[in-house]
Amino acid sequence: MTDKTQKINFSELLTKAVSEKGRLLEAYSAFHNYSFQNQLLALQQCADRGLKISPLSTFLNWQKKGRRVKRGEKALFLCMPVSFKKESLNDQGELIEETKAFFVYRSKFFLLSQTDGQDLSEDSFRVKDWSKDDCLKSLNISLTEFSSLSGNTQGYATQDRKIAINPLAQLPIKTLFHEIAHIILGHTESIHGLETPTDIKEVEAESVALLCLTSLDLDGAEYCRGYIQHWLKDHTYPEDSAKKVLSATDKILKAGRNELNKKEADNE
Ligand SMILES: [Zn+2]
Repeated sequence: MTDKTQKINFSELLTKAVSEKGRLLEAYSAFHNYSFQNQLLALQQCADRGLKISPLSTFLNWQKKGRRVKRGEKALFLCMPVSFKKESLNDQGELIEETKAFFVYRSKFFLLSQTDGQDLSEDSFRVKDWSKDDCLKSLNISLTEFSSLSGNTQGYATQDRKIAINPLAQLPIKTLFHEIAHIILGHTESIHGLETPTDIKEVEAESVALLCLTSLDLDGAEYCRGYIQHWLKDHTYPEDSAKKVLSATDKILKAGRNELNKKEADNE
């Protein structure tokens, strides 16, 4: 049961998301304007409360669209950033102003299915496009020629934000997400003494690939799922990894979405 009074366990949300077929695509179609973490939170609340997955917005925004939240409907909560300014003195005794942010859970979101009024075609909420080129450009990653002799290597990522995909890769798009993930997750930067173990790196990158593929309804998720589930048999998903995976997925999906779809719903 998702209850915001308890601490949200992202590792549990993620473990569920990678093991259930179909649900992520539904969530992404309906909630793509929200961060991936919030998509999972909304998905879980729909499941807990038996609500139909449909687009999510605030009370006021539904009103602007000519719809009204039905009597008796309870809001869903999402995790929202709150920023504030903090003033302090630096070493030279000068006043400096810093912007700090923290996160709070806010119950102010309603599903389309909790409202009535003017008919809105649900399709107008759907994601139309995700572009590999936009994604790479916006994340400042370049695709380079594959220059490994190993036929088994599907692809690789380098320290200078370059990725290469084997022209013979079985599932090039899956490999693309996997390699972008290595970069976004910071795996290609070597921070002395803070190295993430290789198997964790692989599970993290593969999880991001799985979440991207299922969100965009692309083939290949089953391969990732098999790998991750095999690994999860002997491990539990570290909470830190889960958060990193969700935020990396978010960045990759957002970076590739066409301009028309880039509405900042999380800041409503
Ligand atoms: Zn890898």
